[in-house]
Amino acid sequence: MIYKDNRNRLFNGWIRLYFLSDVEHKYLLYQLLPTARDVGVSKELRGWSWHQPPLKPYYDNVKLPMYAVCSKYCPTNRDVYLRYVEKISPIPSGKVALGKILHGVVSDCLRAFAQRRNIDFESWWQTIRWSEINEKPENLKEPSRKVWDFLQKICEARLAEFSSRQPYASELDLIASAVPFLVEHKISGELLGLSGILSLDCYDYLKALMFDLKVASEPQEWHRLSPVGYALVFESVHEVPVDVCCNVYLDVKDGKVFVRRDLFFASDELRQWWIEERDRKLEIVAEGKDPGKPNRSQCPVDCMYFKFCYE
Ligand code: SF4
Repeated sequence: MIYKDNRNRLFNGWIRLYFLSDVEHKYLLYQLLPTARDVGVSKELRGWSWHQPPLKPYYDNVKLPMYAVCSKYCPTNRDVYLRYVEKISPIPSGKVALGKILHGVVSDCLRAFAQRRNIDFESWWQTIRWSEINEKPENLKEPSRKVWDFLQKICEARLAEFSSRQPYASELDLIASAVPFLVEHKISGELLGLSGILSLDCYDYLKALMFDLKVASEPQEWHRLSPVGYALVFESVHEVPVDVCCNVYLDVKDGKVFVRRDLFFASDELRQWWIEERDRKLEIVAEGKDPGKPNRSQCPVDCMYFKFCYE
């Protein structure tokens, strides 16, 4: 078992994307942070130890994106071989298109709000480059609008709350406290064997909390790898410890926005697991070794490489 402390702890209910609820805030203050202080993180597993084992990448000539390291969608990692050795482009599914568009909604809406740019949903919708999205716009418009409106309301409410608490603060101060997020923050993962331009979904700079957004996905243990990977990269570049991570599961069903969250300690076990995944995948690409297919029944039917493996 990779982690056992809070494996099934998913927060449901009145959840506001990257803004913690009162219950989660208590969980952060009275469980996760004390655990992080008591148990701690080994110094060789902090991102700033990138120049020595086990974090130092064994291969200098291969760099991979974070999703290639963290995805465990294919049981044998053949998807990594096909994409980065055979250079086969995947065939994106409708779910991938929804994920792409909702990531865009969340990041653009939050950034526009933080920069006080008054953009409405319709004018944002006109800016989408549809050539990059493999789905009909009419299938994505309503879910996108729902998430945009949902987020706008939350941000306005947060700003109003902070304005009432700090009536003499400047607007810049209020925004920095009410929406304390680096969204789509660009960062280099090269020190850890990753691509030079990575993009964090969200980092809360007041709580030092790394978020990763998942769209229309059921929670999986391996989903924790991605925010832990970003925490390691953040530590390697900025030398700031990131002890707590959170996966945000976003979906729109029957016209309603659903959000669940998995908030957890970025422990030594998770960091080691991330390093193992990185090393395994770098090796596949560096050595050009086809890891082979699993039993066909283990391949998800919506795998973007299904056609290449079985037709
Ligand atoms: S079809 Fe199966 S073996 Fe091929 S990449 Fe997908 S999950 Fe892996």
